[in-house]
Amino acid sequence: MAELSLRNLDKIYDNNVQAVFGFNLDVKDGEFIVLVGPSGCGKSTTLRMVAGLEDISNGQLIIDGNDVTRMPPKDRDIAMVFQNYALYGHMSVYENMAFSLVLRKESKNVIHQKVLAAAEILGLTDQLNKKPGQLSGGQRQRVAMGRAIVRNPKVFLFDEPLSNLDAKLRGSTRREIMLLHKRLKATMIYVTHDQTEALTLADRIVCMSMGYVQQVGTPLELYNTPANIFVASFIGLPPMNLFDVKVEDGKLKNDLFEVSLDSEQQNLLKDYVGKEIVLGVRPENIEPGSDVKATVVNVENLGQNTLVHMHVGAKRVVGKFRGWCKYNINEEITVSFNKMHFFDKETTNAIR
Ligand code: ADP
Repeated sequence: MAELSLRNLDKIYDNNVQAVFGFNLDVKDGEFIVLVGPSGCGKSTTLRMVAGLEDISNGQLIIDGNDVTRMPPKDRDIAMVFQNYALYGHMSVYENMAFSLVLRKESKNVIHQKVLAAAEILGLTDQLNKKPGQLSGGQRQRVAMGRAIVRNPKVFLFDEPLSNLDAKLRGSTRREIMLLHKRLKATMIYVTHDQTEALTLADRIVCMSMGYVQQVGTPLELYNTPANIFVASFIGLPPMNLFDVKVEDGKLKNDLFEVSLDSEQQNLLKDYVGKEIVLGVRPENIEPGSDVKATVVNVENLGQNTLVHMHVGAKRVVGKFRGWCKYNINEEITVSFNKMHFFDKETTNAIR
């Protein structure tokens, strides 16, 4: 399989729009990388530069030690699975999966074996004679993956492969992709705007905003120690609650509440005493307590836990409480924060 090195990649489109700025990443053999970020942040552009579908404006792309920066797509030994599947409607599932091998002039025998093996992995053995139009969205997505698998490429690229599926099918197809990665042990780069897909699929996540990489790390690293306010708000659902607070001796304070700091937190914030910072608290780190007064505005029972939407002063805050909680609208409650994140207000970077 393959190692990749993306070195300082820039993409400047012909209309002078710069979509990607200095993208750096070393991808290990067999690693599952997920590029995540909001629409327009440069994820697809980065993926398409790796595929060779977009020219690389500046920088270098190395695959297994070879500089492929200017190499045409067909010579890169990369397979891409698109969100619109890009299947040939007039061909059977079998013919769609065999197509690239026919172009490569593989023998009928080899093609047959490879298509059957891929169909077996993907549970498509009974569908091989059908046309794509006779399949469900999930099955079409699997055919698109099958087309990639038969080529046994060095690298698999996925561009939002689940975005055309309904919610239930997205979950099951996501788990299939996870198993596929385990089975093939292939290097994969996967683009999505969905933080859940990133958290569940990735060995490492690359979180992007406005053409820049914001943070690279394992899902747990991005969740537990987000590098800045952008990553903190993007990873985790519902998003992290953010408050402007002033650091005072041993506590954080604003017009609405004050919370005390333990000695470790005081040490971390010692350079900020007297200054404003941004306090981040994940909904799951808010619990019924005694520090912050809030007014309940809405309650969503999800079974295992309850989303409690509150106002703290004029600020909308969401708490995710354990279990099935009953509150009345407009009920006054008090809550505590059991884990806090701190960010520099000017740089927006995490205070570490
Ligand atoms: P994402 O995949 O994160 O949604 P894209 O990589 O598709 O983002 O786009 C990044 C930026 O580049 C956007 O501002 C988009 O409008 C711009 N862009 C994408 N493709 C082109 C193109 N062919 N020509 C000019 N600008 C483009």
